[in-house]
Amino acid sequence: AALYNVDGWGGPYFSVNAAGNISVRSHGSATLSHQEIDLLKIVKKASDPKSVGGLGLQFPLIVRFPDVLKNRLECLQSAFDYAIQSEGYGSHYQGVYPVKCNQDRFVVEDIVKFGSPFRFGLEAGSKPELLLAMSCLCKGNPDALLICNGFKDAEYISLALVANKLALNTVIVLEQEEEVDLIVELSKKLCIKPVIGLRAKLRTKHSGHFGATSGEKGKFGLTTAQILRVVKKLDLAGMLDCLQLLHFHIGSQIPSTALLADGVGEAAQIYCELVRLGANMRVIDIGGGLGIDYDGSKSCDSDISVGYSLDEYAAAVVRAVQCVCDRRSVKNPVICSESGRAIVSHQSVLVFEAVGTSSTVGGASSAFSSPYLAGDLSEDYRFLSEAAFGGDYERCLVYTEELKERCVEQFKQGTVCMEQLAAVDGLCELVRKAVGVGEPVRRYHVNLSVFTSIPDAWGIEQVFPIIPIHRLDEKPSVRGILSDLTCDSDGKIDKFINGESSLPLHEVDGGGYYLGMFLGGAYEEALGGFHNLFGGPSVVRVSQSDGPHSFAVTRAVPGPSCGDVLRVMQHQPELMFETLKHRAYEYVSQDNAAVLASGLARTFDRMPYLVPLSSFEEAAFPVSD
Ligand code: PLP
Repeated sequence: AALYNVDGWGGPYFSVNAAGNISVRSHGSATLSHQEIDLLKIVKKASDPKSVGGLGLQFPLIVRFPDVLKNRLECLQSAFDYAIQSEGYGSHYQGVYPVKCNQDRFVVEDIVKFGSPFRFGLEAGSKPELLLAMSCLCKGNPDALLICNGFKDAEYISLALVANKLALNTVIVLEQEEEVDLIVELSKKLCIKPVIGLRAKLRTKHSGHFGATSGEKGKFGLTTAQILRVVKKLDLAGMLDCLQLLHFHIGSQIPSTALLADGVGEAAQIYCELVRLGANMRVIDIGGGLGIDYDGSKSCDSDISVGYSLDEYAAAVVRAVQCVCDRRSVKNPVICSESGRAIVSHQSVLVFEAVGTSSTVGGASSAFSSPYLAGDLSEDYRFLSEAAFGGDYERCLVYTEELKERCVEQFKQGTVCMEQLAAVDGLCELVRKAVGVGEPVRRYHVNLSVFTSIPDAWGIEQVFPIIPIHRLDEKPSVRGILSDLTCDSDGKIDKFINGESSLPLHEVDGGGYYLGMFLGGAYEEALGGFHNLFGGPSVVRVSQSDGPHSFAVTRAVPGPSCGDVLRVMQHQPELMFETLKHRAYEYVSQDNAAVLASGLARTFDRMPYLVPLSSFEEAAFPVSD
């Protein structure tokens, strides 16, 4: 546990149990140790087709814990409730979940259900997101907010106005100045009085990667001059009383409470100015940005950690709003936040299998064979032996590297054969090992697509805690990087927590070696693509059930099949199958063609990822005739 700093980034949900496996405390309480669930047991149940109750799902696998999600929501709400109470703040906190962080139906439905007692709402940034938020909120608390962000056209605005008509507590937030004209026109046409918010472009700038769009030159929101023009337009239209919410977002992963308080304080001044200008202000929406400590370092100097707790975050927000509003004698507004990352990151674990390893130099030592170092190379071999026997290890290393370079040149000219080149590679590797340079970092092949399942590792080099989910009581003997299934050299993970460029790992044995990517419940599923036509993972939902350490799988869904991913690119799997079947009847016997067709059908129906040899049915592909 210490090697991978599980307690640092995993608490209070993940720890290591006595069996050396990752254990999940889905209620987030360390005192309920009898309720801990062994992640490996879940994985075995989900994947094993042979065990009793085994579900036979293919890897990669997302394991979702709705209880973790419930706990995250409750912790966020109670952090604000506590700060509001202890500071004597004059209003309440009412959060929304930005669905773009993970639009999975069950995640969103759970949030609406779990958040209903405290009026937790949703935020949408596009038309389909708005449609899903509207339908989910029909089953939620009627006071829950529906915040409509993002760039809008007449259709988006009409939809938001309809949401209002359907008694959903909807706020249309102006992202661009022109949207105000459409809102005025359409609301008059549809005879609906909207609630309007506006997104301000703050001067406060967040300097990390996630703050790239903050500050005066940021992509989103209205400048001071634009805000003044919008107020004027609404006043002229007799709709200034509709302007009730001020929104801003200074970026994800806000590193410190000092920066947070600075931004919130600036926004609170704008809020008070809008009150002064006659708007009917009620809510300050501080956007997202509540950070996650991906490496457990509690540092505010990196993009993957934050230097505050949930309680400290809430206290900083409440104090900053209160300080400005009280000074200006403005009634304390409702505080809304749009935390996404902090709500959904912990609720799922991506589990994938390492299927084999190779040394980064291609397993050369096994090819070392001194007979191939005869002829021209025997002189070199003699010099090297002398240096080794003389204990001059530095010279040994320099010498072997020079020898290798020379041999590669000779190979290109055709004067050294492949066996000789392999023997020289093997010799170099042996020398490196013998002089204690250590085993080179190995490449672990994983049954996964980085582009589909951990796209931020590729796109923005984000680092997630990735560790084996078992054998954690066994000292890892190897260091490795992870290499995925795609035919793309970017499909790798070679950046890990603590600034490491390789991960301590165990030898892959026959029993399966499972790794978990933790804290990836936000953004990764929503951003993933179909590179090489690898689709999303299988998913299971797991809840605590009665009895010590017991759990129930409440939902199990295989990932998209080969047919499904082909359909995404406009292919027609049914027609493709018919074409291939027809061809089979032309080229092989009737009996074999029928078997072959069912084998093909099976491949169309299965996920694109590797299947273990034990579940591959060779008989489905008869090619003997
Ligand atoms: N709200 C808005 C407008 C955003 O752009 C984002 C993310 O970029 C969020 C909320 C969610 O931010 P986070 O996941 O950091 O909480």
